[in-house]
Amino acid sequence: MKKSRRNFIKNTSLGIIAMSSANLALYAKSTSKSNSTEEIGALPWIELSRKAYLKNIGIISKITDNRSIIAVLKNNAYGLGDIEVATILENSKNVRSYALVKDTRCIALRKNGIKKDILLMGDFSKSLGSQLVKNDVTLSVFSHESFSKIKSLAKNYSKKIKVQLYFDTGLGRMGMPYYKSLRWVKELSEIPNVFIEGAYSTLTTPKDFAIEQINRFRNTISKLNNMGISINLLHIAPSQSALEIEQSHLDCVRPGILLHGTLPLVNMPAYNDIQLAPTFRLRAPVIRVEKLKKGDTIGFSRFYELKQDEWIATLPIGWADGYYSGAENGAKVLIHDSLFDVVNVNASHCNILVGLNKKVNVGDIATLIGTERSEITPEGFSKLANGHNYLQINYKESLPKIIVDEFN
Ligand SMILES: *Cc1c(COP(=O)(O)O)cnc(C)c1O
Repeated sequence: MKKSRRNFIKNTSLGIIAMSSANLALYAKSTSKSNSTEEIGALPWIELSRKAYLKNIGIISKITDNRSIIAVLKNNAYGLGDIEVATILENSKNVRSYALVKDTRCIALRKNGIKKDILLMGDFSKSLGSQLVKNDVTLSVFSHESFSKIKSLAKNYSKKIKVQLYFDTGLGRMGMPYYKSLRWVKELSEIPNVFIEGAYSTLTTPKDFAIEQINRFRNTISKLNNMGISINLLHIAPSQSALEIEQSHLDCVRPGILLHGTLPLVNMPAYNDIQLAPTFRLRAPVIRVEKLKKGDTIGFSRFYELKQDEWIATLPIGWADGYYSGAENGAKVLIHDSLFDVVNVNASHCNILVGLNKKVNVGDIATLIGTERSEITPEGFSKLANGHNYLQINYKESLPKIIVDEFN
């Protein structure tokens, strides 16, 4: 397994910072009053707001009539840091557990002190089986092979093994096809040290088919009940169904994107009034400001050509860090109180049009995603850059994360 990227966790007046020592040094400097680059370092970073996460949890609970929440933290919590987000959600009574897709990340969460239940919705490597059970990770039965693997784990390992039944009710991607799963479940239920903790499925987007899926799921559960197998914890709703389909709430809901304060689709005006709070900021220091000449171009593709002599700033972040390359199609960046156009995104750098006057200096902090203006919220950014609302998922694990109590 990969060595943990978090070297230590430190308490500060702002909250917990979980990051490597090098990045911590950067952070300590970036919060001081000085704004010279030498002192703030030259790396981009992500800030996470504890208050915003807890606000969104409250909103999700409210719209689901107080269902408990299984927080989906797969894909490194959509690029924002699975350990960091779990660390924040540990304090929420409404979050009952976390759901992940990679076996190694479940173990990483435990190694970093995460105590709530963890559901592995993906496959596990045979060599990690007993470690997952020791770490109290719930495994999923989603295929014939995963069923066999859990069976042999139960034979060789006497501790109780928690499993959840993952049914395919129509997404066609993962899970036991609901119409041929009963025999497996019966056999599983007869293994003494296997505890069937719950059952789940995932809904597709079209509403009428999602309702059909809920019926298939409920029928499968009734059939199991009739066979004497009772299952307590039922869940089926990702963010979109949790918002749109009340019958999907079952015992708990399983949102991913809503946790981070973003609706699943760019245009969902019916839900604008639920007032989710964006939970993260993506920031970077300005590392170069130059006045270039009329006719000069920026970047490999020579996409932006200067119409006049003007100031161009450089930020040390690009698509290799996971920043969306389409940002050059219209996204903006906030520096001080002004918004500036992104005119070029390369692998490790992007460029900002400052204009005729030098309003920006090396060492100034740019907010690429934030909460201050509607243009730079995750949703505002996606609209301007012509993207979708899950773009942050590409942020690299190497971006340092800082947890603050709230954004100042
Ligand atoms: C990703 C995922 C979710 C969460 O999806 P969102 O659209 O982000 O809410 C829920 N359940 C499963 C099985 C998933 O794979």
